[in-house]
Amino acid sequence: MSSFDEDEAFAAAVPLSQRAMAARPAPYLDELNPAQREAVEALEGPVLMLAGAGTGKTKALTARIAHLLNSGKARPNEILAVTFTNKAAREMKLRVARLLGMELEGMPWLGTFHAICVKLLRRHAELVDLKSNFTILDTDDQIRLLKQLIAAANIDEKRWPARHLAQVIDNWKNRAWTPENVPTAEAGAFDNKGVALYRAYQARLRTLNAVDFGDLLLHVVTIFQRHEDVLAQYQRWFRFILVDEYQDTNVAQYLWLRLLAGAHQNICCVGDDDQSIYGWRGAEVGNILRFEKDFPGATVIRLEQNYRSTAHILAAASGVIEANKGRLGKTLWTAADGGEKVRLIGHWDGEEEARWIGEELEAMGQGTRGLAPLGLDQCAILVRASHQMRAFEDRFLTIGLPYRVIGGPRFYERMEIRDAMAYFRLAVSPEDDLAFERIVNTPKRGLGDKAQQKIQIAARTNGVSLVEGAKILLAAKGLTGKGAKALGTLLDGLERWHRAVVGTAPPLPDDDDVLDDGLFAAPEPGVTAGPQVSHIELAQTILEESGYTAYWQNDKSPEAPGRLENLKELVKALENFENLQGFLEHVSLIMDNETDDGEPKVTLMTLHGAKGLEFPAVFLPGWEDGLFPNQRAMDETGLKGLEEERRLAYVGITRAERLCTISFAANRRIFGQWQSALPSRFIDELPEENVDVLTPPGLYGGGYGAAATAQPVRSDLHDQASRADVYNSPGWKRMQARSQSRGMSQPRESRNVTIDLDAVSSFGLGDRVFHQKFGYGAVTAIEGDKLEIAFDKAGVKKVVAKFVVPADSAGDVPF
Ligand code: ATP
Ligand code: MG
Repeated sequence: MSSFDEDEAFAAAVPLSQRAMAARPAPYLDELNPAQREAVEALEGPVLMLAGAGTGKTKALTARIAHLLNSGKARPNEILAVTFTNKAAREMKLRVARLLGMELEGMPWLGTFHAICVKLLRRHAELVDLKSNFTILDTDDQIRLLKQLIAAANIDEKRWPARHLAQVIDNWKNRAWTPENVPTAEAGAFDNKGVALYRAYQARLRTLNAVDFGDLLLHVVTIFQRHEDVLAQYQRWFRFILVDEYQDTNVAQYLWLRLLAGAHQNICCVGDDDQSIYGWRGAEVGNILRFEKDFPGATVIRLEQNYRSTAHILAAASGVIEANKGRLGKTLWTAADGGEKVRLIGHWDGEEEARWIGEELEAMGQGTRGLAPLGLDQCAILVRASHQMRAFEDRFLTIGLPYRVIGGPRFYERMEIRDAMAYFRLAVSPEDDLAFERIVNTPKRGLGDKAQQKIQIAARTNGVSLVEGAKILLAAKGLTGKGAKALGTLLDGLERWHRAVVGTAPPLPDDDDVLDDGLFAAPEPGVTAGPQVSHIELAQTILEESGYTAYWQNDKSPEAPGRLENLKELVKALENFENLQGFLEHVSLIMDNETDDGEPKVTLMTLHGAKGLEFPAVFLPGWEDGLFPNQRAMDETGLKGLEEERRLAYVGITRAERLCTISFAANRRIFGQWQSALPSRFIDELPEENVDVLTPPGLYGGGYGAAATAQPVRSDLHDQASRADVYNSPGWKRMQARSQSRGMSQPRESRNVTIDLDAVSSFGLGDRVFHQKFGYGAVTAIEGDKLEIAFDKAGVKKVVAKFVVPADSAGDVPF
């Protein structure tokens, strides 16, 4: 056939509407290089983009979605696009909209594996013996449940902790093993009782109408495997599948994708084997390396130009990753100029490292180092372990430098929030026994251990939930007096709130309209809807009628006002959701806690959390052996663990666009203990020619003496003797040797240490204080010169004592 005939044949086969769509301009294609364009335009069949960091994989994937929509190949709800975090999903949606220059009307299936699986599971819950209003357990609930099962099996929880069992079960779920198909090789797990406990746990979850995180995928994979018709339906619906960060998929996720793509094979995966960093959570880098086998005839596209970083940064990252044996190996180049070399600096201790970075951040804002001024929001500090964040948080609070923690302790993990959420969960799903256990005697209702035991027994003997068990118990007069009355009131409340929830739930989707945004709550048979109230009013009512709000109002502890503020904040958060259930789901799925008041802030997050992101300036502190590479990772998985740590180093360096600063400390206080440390072995793997070694402030060259008197030195552990020990420590010596070999000036003699007595706090527990930035609060804990303060408005924070004044003298201080 001549090409003319082919065109004719194409024209005849393609409907006019689609041809008209195809003729629409596609400006987003002009922003791509030829290889990216190929990946975007090869819409049919399997495509793999396997390429290094910053080469535009995510950009191409986003353009591909835009192209699918723009060319009329797919409607928004026919595209299944999987990203690694909710934040990445939001970002991708925004970018597609921007590329197309229009509002995107829903992309219901663009999200994380978990978020998408929740929707799927709600539709088909009955196929795995759940109801569609199942609860998603958080780690705390999961552990509590496992503890009960361990106790029931007469196992000593001290020797065999619930957390360990949680990990074992999670691993199995990541491999898509149900209790029935855990291989015999695993039979020895958890003192030979792992499999039996796993079975009991799953059974218990079913009676609770609950799932854990791992179940979301496992159940959906099970449904797809057992119900061909359901799978076939989704294979037809999800006509195009796109996956970012494919190198970090685990077996369950991989199976899920293969099942869905099995029929049409329109799957486009992008990733980088060098950035596989979730092996410890079951990710298998083999998935990406096997792609061409799994999907024969796949178009494989390699991208080599890095658009993110300057040449020195890229070369430094490449130098480090080259030490890994198990990799494909890739060439990366950048058209950007050399730029700044990667900066390397060694510090005396972790506090000094934090102090220095704080100063750098402030200086950068004024445009130092020949770079245009960098705002705080253009800078990130990426740490290996979240406990490293404390030093930075303390420092930044002290100097008033705005920062945000991504993926750190979250609002929703606070006690009062979790209590309130337990009430909400019960209102949505009365069989949520874990929630019931949490609140049955909170606030105190005279329902102590004995009464709770009776409820448990009544529930168990009748094979019903705790709420039902409690009703039976009351009816049989098994409980009397004050406790019985209080329980009766609680049960009445729960019933009322549940009716109200059913009244506020959105209607069930039609069978032929199942592709809309699939969050729905099915009313249970026999429950009639109550009067229509908004879920916000309902939440407030629940907190009041249950006595929970009053409980904190009557509490005289310094934390109480802050907790009440938080409860208000919680109710406020509901405004962004259609109903309680949508909100509960959101909370179980959130992975980041960004608050945005518009003020530029430096980002503080873990290296793992930073995957896929980019920042003009990146600080990589704590490069010390044991901390990074992480000792536990190396102990547990040896060379494999070390290589994964090295990939993490590669991810870290390649987040930087223009300025990358690596630092380490000779001493660090970890979990209350001072430890001297050796600089990370990854530092020696950095190519010399791409690194600038900086002189630490004060320690080398001038200026130290002044700093020593100006800076308070901790009085608790850090006395002269321990400091002298540290000077003799191998870590310090190695650091000295390195600085000499790299041409740094010699450290001075051991410095004089002065102890700043002012730094010891003169405040007492419970004192009311005032802080310039956070306002009024009460001291809840004291550690040396640091105070933990429950601020009335800003919540609990740690602040250095000299930055607060007694509340009653606040007016006298010229802030
Ligand atoms: P990672 O491996 O870190 O996830 P990636 O390969 O997904 O990186 P992107 O985040 O898509 O890379 O792109 C990195 C940067 O390069 C982004 O700022 C992006 O806008 C830019 N970029 C990508 N492709 C091009 C291009 N063809 N022309 C100009 N800039 C590009
Ligand atoms: Mg990316």
